[in-house]
Amino acid sequence: MASPVILKIALPTPIRRLFDYVLPKSIDLNMLMPGMRVRVPFQSRHLVGVFIAAAKDTSVPIDKLKEVTEILDDSPLFSHDIYQLCLFASDYYHHSLGDVFSAAMPSLLRAGKSKKCQKKDELHFAIADEWPDLNPDQAHAVTVMSEALFSHSVFLLDGVTGSGKTEVYFHIIKKALENKTQILVMLPEISLTPQTIGRFRSRFQVTIAIFHSGLSEKERLSSWSMAQSGDAKIVIGTRSSVFVPFKKLGLIVVDEEHDSSFKQQDRFRYQARDLAVMRARMNRIPIILGSATPSLESICNAKKKKYIHLVLKNRAGLAVFPNYHIVDTNHDKAEQGLSSFLHQSIKAHLDQNNQVMLFLNQRGFAPVLFCIECGWSAHCKRCDVRMVYHHRPNHLLCHHCGAKNKIPNHCDQGHSKSLQAVGVGTQRLHDALSEFFPSVPIIRIDRDTTKRKGALVDLLTQIHQHEKAILLGTQMLAKGHHFKNVTLVGVIDADRGLFSADFRATEQMGQLLLQISGRAGREEKKGTVLIQTRYPTHPLLRTLIDQGYSSFADLLLDERRIANMPPFSYFALFRAEAYKEKTANQFLIKIKELESLYGSDLTILGPISALIEKRNGLYCQHVLIKASHRAFLQNCLSDIVTRIETWPESKKIKWIVDVDPIHVV
Ligand code: ADP
Ligand code: ZN
Repeated sequence: MASPVILKIALPTPIRRLFDYVLPKSIDLNMLMPGMRVRVPFQSRHLVGVFIAAAKDTSVPIDKLKEVTEILDDSPLFSHDIYQLCLFASDYYHHSLGDVFSAAMPSLLRAGKSKKCQKKDELHFAIADEWPDLNPDQAHAVTVMSEALFSHSVFLLDGVTGSGKTEVYFHIIKKALENKTQILVMLPEISLTPQTIGRFRSRFQVTIAIFHSGLSEKERLSSWSMAQSGDAKIVIGTRSSVFVPFKKLGLIVVDEEHDSSFKQQDRFRYQARDLAVMRARMNRIPIILGSATPSLESICNAKKKKYIHLVLKNRAGLAVFPNYHIVDTNHDKAEQGLSSFLHQSIKAHLDQNNQVMLFLNQRGFAPVLFCIECGWSAHCKRCDVRMVYHHRPNHLLCHHCGAKNKIPNHCDQGHSKSLQAVGVGTQRLHDALSEFFPSVPIIRIDRDTTKRKGALVDLLTQIHQHEKAILLGTQMLAKGHHFKNVTLVGVIDADRGLFSADFRATEQMGQLLLQISGRAGREEKKGTVLIQTRYPTHPLLRTLIDQGYSSFADLLLDERRIANMPPFSYFALFRAEAYKEKTANQFLIKIKELESLYGSDLTILGPISALIEKRNGLYCQHVLIKASHRAFLQNCLSDIVTRIETWPESKKIKWIVDVDPIHVV
């Protein structure tokens, strides 16, 4: 009897290996190609997996193997480059290949649906915008990029907000279209607004497909198919669009490349910007990374000449740089978030019929409910954090696990008259502003006001409808939007980012401050930025304000070099979570004990408790792995993961590995 053909299948489970199945006699092996989906029985259910290879051997007794139930595609679902990209990503992030494939497909395909779908013709005839004449910096950037259109290069387009980066993208996209290639434009979720899409539509009378998580499953599949068939010429998408297949991709643009939303923070923890660079390299096409505040990684690559650095020095058109002003809140106390100087400035700008934007990275009414008699404060029972006081409806909310409690009448000690809501959140600031400026529209944008689908779009529309208004929000408000009437930007509290245990916190604080400032004076009106701080002479803050982002970044790079931190070394994090602190700790100690196997080029630090020691009832600890070379780190990680998987406790505990982590606290 001929031995049956064994099929190696990647399945969407966290288990890092392929699964063996038998090819039913009724199916011809020649029909199968790597990258095609199959349906298979798995435990008590059916899963959709991806066929990888056929084999003669298996380590499982042959009579234990099950048959493949169904072949779902008649051609590979994944184009060659996406297939290769998934293999690479699975390797690099030490994540199960089946899970990676699964993340790379729209959910309907994941569920086994056919990839043939109703095509929606997405032709919107917007009024064609004029193409402005490029200024010399822009023209230079376009010339340099145009020469590289048929080869692989990485460009770092480094230009302050409003310097005309988007205009440069448009010109180079136009050239790529003339060459009959498709273009992928990747944006952070928060910048993919109707306004942004509108700008593309009024420039390009071609089919543009949008790809982000706000779409329905059908719409996502439709965009995916239109890209694959070549019908969509431009795809604008968020993080996961890095896996969208194209018929003939000719250019990738990653805007706001420094934005941390390109890194997925759960399950398959990939960095979409880095994968986009890898994809461009595999396809031998150019990629543009654009930012007003490039990541230290990209700046470092530009300094090493791995990336071509193109700088736009000035604001495009008539817009000019804003004035900065620091308010020392040690002297000018901020009552309900507003120092008297900021209060007066708001009034003055509103009197000129302009808009004011206030930024406060704390939603809710007040971050703490505090007893002034005994010092008690309200904590979440499941997490090691204070609960945030929310108004209308009144309750305490844990911003980590979502636990909701009634506002207590008294503290632990029974004091009832001395409970106070301490600190300022966006709700409280909103209330205070309504009292001070009763006739001015106040538009608040944070996670609470934008929960409903479409709410963000409504609020943004309101902003454009009003002349004078106060816009108030968390970092959701800081990014990407273009409000032409804003002349004053106020940063309510700049201090959090200056003193954090996380090694990227200062970089992110600087990026955020500049993003926020970029909202002021986008057009002819000159903008002012007011920053409230208790540390007005802090060297990082001063460098940022007096000398600009590039000096600030150089200062940070020096710090990182001295401390041997990324981009001068490479990090990976193993995190363990368990109901007993000891369980997590012992598991990580076992990892730490492997350190001696790899010599002095690899360091394992920890285990230490996460900044929030307990979340959702689980104790959370980690070890940080640090190496001076990426390839060496990768080899060691493969070895460590293989070893961990043989440990019985690894099946009982929740553990993850995070390569190139964004946060290490
Ligand atoms: P960025 O993407 O760097 O924030 P944009 O490309 O959005 O900058 O440009 C900011 C504003 O300046 C836009 O209103 C844009 O239309 C305008 N603009 C850009 N380049 C020019 C130019 N060369 N001449 C006139 N206006 C320009
Ligand atoms: Zn909680």
